[in-house]
Amino acid sequence: MQGLPKTPGFYRFMAGDIEVICINDGILSGDINAVRGVSIEQVRALFDESFFPSEVRCTTNNYIIRSQGHTALVDTGGGSFIIDTAGKMLENAAAAGISPSDIDTILFTHIHPDHISGLMDANWKKIFPQAVLKMHAAEFEFWLSEDPPSRKIAHVKHEADHVIRFMTPYFDQIERFERGEVFPGVNAVALPGHTPGHTGYLISSQGEEILIWGDIIHWPVVQFALPDAAMSYDVDPVKATATRWDILNKVASSGLLVAGMHLYFPGFTRVRREGNAFAMAPVPWGHATYAERGTSS
Ligand SMILES: [Zn+2]
Repeated sequence: MQGLPKTPGFYRFMAGDIEVICINDGILSGDINAVRGVSIEQVRALFDESFFPSEVRCTTNNYIIRSQGHTALVDTGGGSFIIDTAGKMLENAAAAGISPSDIDTILFTHIHPDHISGLMDANWKKIFPQAVLKMHAAEFEFWLSEDPPSRKIAHVKHEADHVIRFMTPYFDQIERFERGEVFPGVNAVALPGHTPGHTGYLISSQGEEILIWGDIIHWPVVQFALPDAAMSYDVDPVKATATRWDILNKVASSGLLVAGMHLYFPGFTRVRREGNAFAMAPVPWGHATYAERGTSS
């Protein structure tokens, strides 16, 4: 296949006047033993039904939002530091015509390693020296405060050093929020559990909306059908599961378009009810944000 042009990993869509571009960061590998709250056999059956190979993998996406002359990047991907098959965000953003200096704001859904390691290049130089980095105050408190709680939780502390190492060069650029509008046309939606400050971003313009919901779902073929399936890397798996049920119920009722960091590229879907659980509802090509929802008049 050498010589064939590489397919760029970006996908552009609109919510009213706001442009949203899904930027693929690549593929992460997982471990089925990371599942919590349900049996591994149930999870394996769902992967098998969908003809998945035995190795668990998931997509990883970031999003660029352009609104009122400003450009935000939602999460930075894994950079050169997580796995060879990820860290493609910058090259895919370049294919979409966007360079790091275009980005004035970085909105974090949360600050796990696969979402922040793209802040630094392989030579340990800052990629976004001018950007303002925004995160929920609870996220800052958990990972970055003096004597952070993340260091005291057995199943979390192995990530705590990585988070501090990558965020320290940016410390002066961090702004914390609790709620409200965090970027023009973008409101923070608290979705705690996966991490204490895990946050969704609701993009609204001219009656059209998209919710970037971060890591509500890691394995789409499993967690829509089995929302009780939590992950070992959920800081609080019980709360993460309650939040997943709540937001799945809401978006299945409203028809709200959602975009996710670990939904299959290009990372957006609607959600429908299926029995006592949910399923992805395909979005027709060219109809990403059309305002046909039952609730709108
Ligand atoms: Zn993630």
